[in-house]
Amino acid sequence: MRRLGVHVSVAGGIHLSVERAKELGCTAMQIFSHNPRGWAFSDITESEAVRFRKLSDELNVRPVFIHSSYLINLASPTEATREKSISLLSYELRMADLLGIDYVVLHPGKAAGQDFRTAVKRTKKALALVHETAQYKSGILIENTAGQMGDISSTMPMIADIAEGAPAGLIKGICFDTCHGYAAGYDIADDKGIRKLERELKEYLSPLKAELIHLNDAKKGFASGVDRHEHIGEGSIGIAGFRRFLSSTFLRKIPLILETPKKDDGDDKRNLGVVREILKEVKNV
Ligand SMILES: [Zn+2]
Ligand SMILES: [Zn+2]
Repeated sequence: MRRLGVHVSVAGGIHLSVERAKELGCTAMQIFSHNPRGWAFSDITESEAVRFRKLSDELNVRPVFIHSSYLINLASPTEATREKSISLLSYELRMADLLGIDYVVLHPGKAAGQDFRTAVKRTKKALALVHETAQYKSGILIENTAGQMGDISSTMPMIADIAEGAPAGLIKGICFDTCHGYAAGYDIADDKGIRKLERELKEYLSPLKAELIHLNDAKKGFASGVDRHEHIGEGSIGIAGFRRFLSSTFLRKIPLILETPKKDDGDDKRNLGVVREILKEVKNV
């Protein structure tokens, strides 16, 4: 079965996220482990974790992904920010272990005025420090970014550069975001662009694979370098583009998570409906 879900809120208790996802008919989901706008975090209690694991098994909402905080910048030129980023990323991995979650999705960082080589070097060093402090069962999926100024992970070769030589088992794969990819010059609405992605994943990242797809339409045009998500079918990738992308064989079994704009649950329901329709059409359910 093709696993499909959305990013859900953990407001009111982490187990409630599973109920919210089930309500929407999700068979996979993504969460933040804490308030992603602040550096502060506190551990989820063992009893909360047990309740969460039990519920996600019972309601068959699996796999679950943690999206790590947007504040994390392993490449930061500021030492204090790098240190806080390392401890926050360690926390995300620790919570993933506690919750029985395999993958933590990460935007590794931004160069913020430094040259790329220095930014990548700092990121690699930070990853080594995360591993040095403790080892985890869960691991990181590096997400491709949209190619905005200072992005160090918008192409497969750039991600490969970060992953190369990383501590064994820490980076477990890639999360491919369709909006970011399209904005960064991967024309995934077109067969040629899909083949380019397939080729680059193999050529640069193997044995790492895409373990998750963030399915988002793009508000801005192809190669815009702008990270603005749009409802499925209403952006520049469009229904026909997603039909092509979702029929590509090499991506067929990878879980899909939507991070489309959300005013209320109605938006998620509508976007999920559109995707289910496309999956039926391309016989990938
Ligand atoms: Zn992301
Ligand atoms: Zn994403």
